[in-house]
Amino acid sequence: MTTSNQPSVLKFGGTSVKNIARIQHVAEIVKQRLPAGPLIVVLSAMGDTTDYLIKLARQCAPTPDKRELDSLLSTGEQISIALLSIVLRSMDIRAKSFTAYQVGIFTETVFNKARIIDLKTEALQEALKDNDVLIVAGFQGITRSGEITTLGRGGSDTTAVALAAAMNAQVCDIFTDVDGIYTADPNAIPKARLLSTISYEEVLEMARLGAQVIHPRAVELGRQYGVKLRVRNTFKPEHPGTTIHGGKDLEIYRTVSGVAVDKDQARVAIMDVPDQPGVAAKIMRALADKNIVTDMIMQAVHPSLGLNNVTFTVHETDVEESVSVLRDLKTQLRAGEVLADADIAKVSLIGAGMVGQPGIAAKFFEILGEAGINIKMIATSEMKLTCVVSRDDAQRAAKLIHDGFELDKV
Ligand code: ADP
Ligand code: ASP
Ligand code: MG
Repeated sequence: MTTSNQPSVLKFGGTSVKNIARIQHVAEIVKQRLPAGPLIVVLSAMGDTTDYLIKLARQCAPTPDKRELDSLLSTGEQISIALLSIVLRSMDIRAKSFTAYQVGIFTETVFNKARIIDLKTEALQEALKDNDVLIVAGFQGITRSGEITTLGRGGSDTTAVALAAAMNAQVCDIFTDVDGIYTADPNAIPKARLLSTISYEEVLEMARLGAQVIHPRAVELGRQYGVKLRVRNTFKPEHPGTTIHGGKDLEIYRTVSGVAVDKDQARVAIMDVPDQPGVAAKIMRALADKNIVTDMIMQAVHPSLGLNNVTFTVHETDVEESVSVLRDLKTQLRAGEVLADADIAKVSLIGAGMVGQPGIAAKFFEILGEAGINIKMIATSEMKLTCVVSRDDAQRAAKLIHDGFELDKV
């Protein structure tokens, strides 16, 4: 093991710090890594703490105030970082915990899904003078005016990669409860195969399309700043896991790399919108002003009537707000009904080698067709093919696609 003054970043997710025994296990991993140089450890909240806190808030109000929700959710990570620091200090390891406020992790003023806009390194650099391990709370941020924000579910990965970029870390290891990135969720598709390497581009598509293993924003930051990123198993710390590489210049070595399922989606539609320039812009602007991210935007035209139906997908948590935005616009646009369908899921096939390959879409649709699975929406791009299907069909569809494209043999 070579020693360096450059820190490494290690991030441990909720299952890895679920109880004190697991926090002690994380402390052992930290101890073993210390001879190679200083460490910045980023933690999630213990186990299902974040879910539990959301549940409590919803018992107080069905749609909790977003600012107060972030104040509540950020407490989860504060507990785990302090506990790990207490364990490490009891082992005579010089460790110190930091909240986002104490580090200076600044975000935009968007509650529940803020993006990091600036990360100060001074406090951490100073603390590294007399500490070997700095433990930073994942998922949380502060705004310039001192408000507490969170980065969206799974956002601790993003804290880790942002810190790795800002601190010029040797490596950023995302420790989780599986061996690395697989061709599909190994807990849903046991035949899924572990990928020893994968490109940033492919992981980004997988993450955006529902593969929970890493937060999409973490992958974006990693790619932008050239962070050496690995996904590894906390319970097998000697296993190399998956290394994410800048694959742009590499020869395409796999046509398809994975299948992802996103069940947290919903479909929203506004019917009978006049077929005139500027109408789609008004709809999308109104949604964007509320920070609602839309995807799979489609327009079905009825030329004889001069009317369109505009349909798109949003994250499930944005459905109510999307519907209310569209209902407000309805009279102004002289449009028809606003509809929402939360009983959907996206099933996607991802691969850097898919571009220009004839027959992939045909095969995908044949597999679903033969299984009697109805396709509600379709979207394609260079590296992905996504279908919206009923939520109940999603896992079966993913398994059939995984089998049909022989992803267990990649
Ligand atoms: P953590 O709490 O460590 O952040 P997550 O639950 O957020 O862990 O992510 C790990 C989980 O991601 C795995 O347990 C697995 O079920 C799921 N997952 C989904 N798709 C994939 C994939 N392609 N490869 C690996 N894991 C995946
Ligand atoms: N604790 C947060 C969540 O459950 C953040 C994370 O785990 O990455 O979403
Ligand atoms: Mg996670």
